[in-house]
Amino acid sequence: MAGTGAFADIFEEGIYKYYSEGEWKKSSSGKSVAIVNPTTRKTHYKVQACTQEEVNKVMDTAKIAQKAWAKTPLWKRAELLHKAAAILKEHKAPIAECLVKEIAKPAKDAVTEVVRSGDLISYCAEEGVRLLGQGTLLTSDSFPGNERSKYCLVSKIPLGVILAIPPFNYPVNLAVSKIAPALIAGNSLVLKPPTQGAVAALHMVHCFHLAGFPKGLISCITGKGSEIGDFLTMHPGVNCISFTGGDTGVAISKKAGMVPLQMELGGKDACIVLEDADLDLVASNIIKGGFSYSGQRCTAVKVVLVMESVADTLVEKVNAKVAKLKVGPPEDDCDITPVVSESSANFIEGLVTDAKQKGATFCQEYKREGNLIWPLLLDNVRPDMRIAWEEPFGPVLPVVRINSVEEGIHHCNASNFGLQGCIFTRDINKAMLISDAMETGTVQINSAPARGPDHFPFQGLRDSGIGSQGVTNSINMMTKIKSTVINLPTPSYTMG
Ligand code: NAP
Repeated sequence: MAGTGAFADIFEEGIYKYYSEGEWKKSSSGKSVAIVNPTTRKTHYKVQACTQEEVNKVMDTAKIAQKAWAKTPLWKRAELLHKAAAILKEHKAPIAECLVKEIAKPAKDAVTEVVRSGDLISYCAEEGVRLLGQGTLLTSDSFPGNERSKYCLVSKIPLGVILAIPPFNYPVNLAVSKIAPALIAGNSLVLKPPTQGAVAALHMVHCFHLAGFPKGLISCITGKGSEIGDFLTMHPGVNCISFTGGDTGVAISKKAGMVPLQMELGGKDACIVLEDADLDLVASNIIKGGFSYSGQRCTAVKVVLVMESVADTLVEKVNAKVAKLKVGPPEDDCDITPVVSESSANFIEGLVTDAKQKGATFCQEYKREGNLIWPLLLDNVRPDMRIAWEEPFGPVLPVVRINSVEEGIHHCNASNFGLQGCIFTRDINKAMLISDAMETGTVQINSAPARGPDHFPFQGLRDSGIGSQGVTNSINMMTKIKSTVINLPTPSYTMG
């Protein structure tokens, strides 16, 4: 059970502690932040509201701990990460329980998130020992005008203190996707978990604590992003920010100083369906892609762009599957569970109301109880409706009927977002041409968009992000290139 057994140290007097200098602490603020269970809409957990002084302390110790960590052999860093991964997987049940209560993640998916996170940590450790265990040798005579008198040894060095801020929808997985590359590369890490999801994240951090990482190398500051966020992201002790979330990331990018940024932000992933597509395959991918975790995924299918000639058949097939989705509490492992907050549900309702007023066809009746919104397919959505462009982050999916492939590509590229997109066709040549024309970080052919497997590169264009994630790309992003040049007194040639 959460907060007990191996996790007893992280909880006291009804409030979860924050993690600093290798210890679980109560904040001197004496204040806490409530975490509301999306299903019951009642406070389920409380976390510390950390102060600016506590952030300063964490940054100071992170800086000191990083210096020693960078001198720790790479294989030892990897060994500790493997240990943390094993401990995390061992404790998947209490961590999954938090995900169910904090973010209404269906019970089975909650367990999958924790196990996947353990696998990601191990993969990162393995990738890191190889990637960071090699460098490049350049010789000067390849550039015109030079003899072979300079040898340049290129290696990768850590950046320093990495600030990691994940979003609510994958608070464990999107935290470890930052923590593991940061640590294997010799950095220290300060985590600010999302408020909804903070308790799952604190349990995950405790697994790193149990693995025996040095004091101060990993810290976890809790508090509302709107209160503590600016102080963290603009802190002079931060050497890199890895953020996943919504528009907040755009604001952080504008305010952050001269530090590398990894921004994984929102998406409006388009699903382009051609006349020759396997419509059964499309329908099951629309259900999986559009409605899993109630549409609260960055890579959810967020707009279907279907050729008019097959639209009726596709809509019918999707509707038949929507009717089978189980709606209810996450504890019962329902397909559709309450969305994360009342304000999120209100926002989704606003998009639905706008679509209704502008004449969209409702394939199901709109139904909401508290934060629980029944799955809804909106047909005949037109570009003047907000839902054609905005990210609902809920179980509501618009269908825009198109008359040409160009129209589909145009809609996809006119979006402010450019995360992923997908194309369904049996003609691979057409798929390649459309993929090349789509301005998104990734295009999936004959499958719904997806972030995983976690070692694939993952990036967004325009407002969807800066930089690229994926195990290798994240390790590279969290390092700097360092060159050492050996200058010989006379040119020297191999075998010469
Ligand atoms: P969000 O509101 O942007 O919050 C993300 C994180 O930022 C949370 O930890 C939040 O903390 C924190 N935060 C809030 N204000 C801050 C500030 N001023 N400074 C620093 N941090 C601040 O996003 P969300 O609602 O959690 O997640 C949904 C969004 O994430 C969607 O747009 C989705 O598409 C996107 N997302 C993108 C990806 C991707 O990889 N591209 C993956 C998953 C989700 P609090 O919770 O305490 O406010």
